[in-house]
Amino acid sequence: MYDINKIREDFPILSRTIYDKPLVYFDNAATTQKPLCVLDAMRDEYLNVNANVHRGVHWLSQQATELHEGARETVRKFINAKSTTEIVFTRGTTEGLNLVASSFSDEFMKEGDEVIVSAVEHHSNIVPWQLQTHKKGIVLKVIPMDDFGKLDIDEFSKMITSRTKIVSVSHVSNVLGTINPVKDIIRIAHEHDIPVMVDGAQSTPHFAVDMQDLDCDFFVFSGHKIYGPTGVGVLYGKEAWLDKLPPYQGGGEMIENVSFEKTTFERPPLKFEAGTPDYIATTGLAKALDYVTDLGLDNIVSHEKKLTAYAINKMLQFDGMKIFGIDDSKPVTEETLCNHDAVISFQLRDIHHMDMGMILDRQGIAIRTGHHCAQPLMQRLGVLGTSRASFALYNTIEEIDAFIAGIDKASNMFKGSSCTPKQL
Ligand code: PMP
Repeated sequence: MYDINKIREDFPILSRTIYDKPLVYFDNAATTQKPLCVLDAMRDEYLNVNANVHRGVHWLSQQATELHEGARETVRKFINAKSTTEIVFTRGTTEGLNLVASSFSDEFMKEGDEVIVSAVEHHSNIVPWQLQTHKKGIVLKVIPMDDFGKLDIDEFSKMITSRTKIVSVSHVSNVLGTINPVKDIIRIAHEHDIPVMVDGAQSTPHFAVDMQDLDCDFFVFSGHKIYGPTGVGVLYGKEAWLDKLPPYQGGGEMIENVSFEKTTFERPPLKFEAGTPDYIATTGLAKALDYVTDLGLDNIVSHEKKLTAYAINKMLQFDGMKIFGIDDSKPVTEETLCNHDAVISFQLRDIHHMDMGMILDRQGIAIRTGHHCAQPLMQRLGVLGTSRASFALYNTIEEIDAFIAGIDKASNMFKGSSCTPKQL
């Protein structure tokens, strides 16, 4: 049974007050809070085990190495990769995307070759490719979307040419919460022998991902968005691809043999892990994944779907409420949200998103405002920014009621005026 009160006790920050109001933390797409078990495991390792990994013959180093490599196995199991050699530890999604963009383009792309991304990408799946555009003239193509954020798969099929070398798309939009049809994209790309990278930053915290079922070639995610620590993330790569990619950075740990004339490299994953890894964070990440697994991703999905459907229906009762990525001409239920994650971007009348964010903040409610690192998507939506509420496994219906009351307050403050609040 999903005991939300007990779950919330694992996250002491949730009992904080902000401006004398109970904290309502709805900025989970930016980062999630950490359960005590993650913090305890990291503290325990610093207190009792701390030693650099891989190189030491001494007892502590071997124990730290066991924890670090054990964490790799936990990640492998969590995403159902075939082997731990396919699991590269990174600093986060951004580093994983940069690693593949840089190494893949170094090895496999030349001027005029194309990468296909989508209209809903986070900057971290646009800019790394653009750096390659500037460096060697590769071409960035964009899968278009409809007004609700649905990617146009037919158009995607037509965009593929003999110069298309890789496709890189997000699994879930961090702005719209839409779940992209990555399985179709992967199938179509593979018919042309084109590899696909999936940005799983917003999917891994919310539903089970399975590398063997998805069949993507690369997959990246961040620890801090899935209840783990900051500074650690994962790049999954099919072994055949990781073997072919050149190293991204050079240094200790990733070499087999070094002389002043020549260096030979370790096999993946170490080939891509130059320098001392954040082995304490990998322990924290493994604990976070165990925590999510113990709660059950299916239970998390149904809890978050309930929250999302409830919130959307309450929000749509406000006159002039626009929710991006939702067709609100039809009833919104948990079932119709099957392609929607726990992220809601909205705009109420002409109330500026910054005003909305600040008024909610004064009620103790943390949401995100602005462009959400997706400026091209903002342009497509015709806005400068949105307000975004995003939910996690520990949020409650009562918190959504407080959020709705906060929106109501903002609505009343701005009633009849386009820019001046009625009361402060
Ligand atoms: N991609 C998506 C879809 C994201 O939501 C984010 C974080 N907002 C990132 C990439 C970047 O993640 P990080 O900052 O942890 O590297």
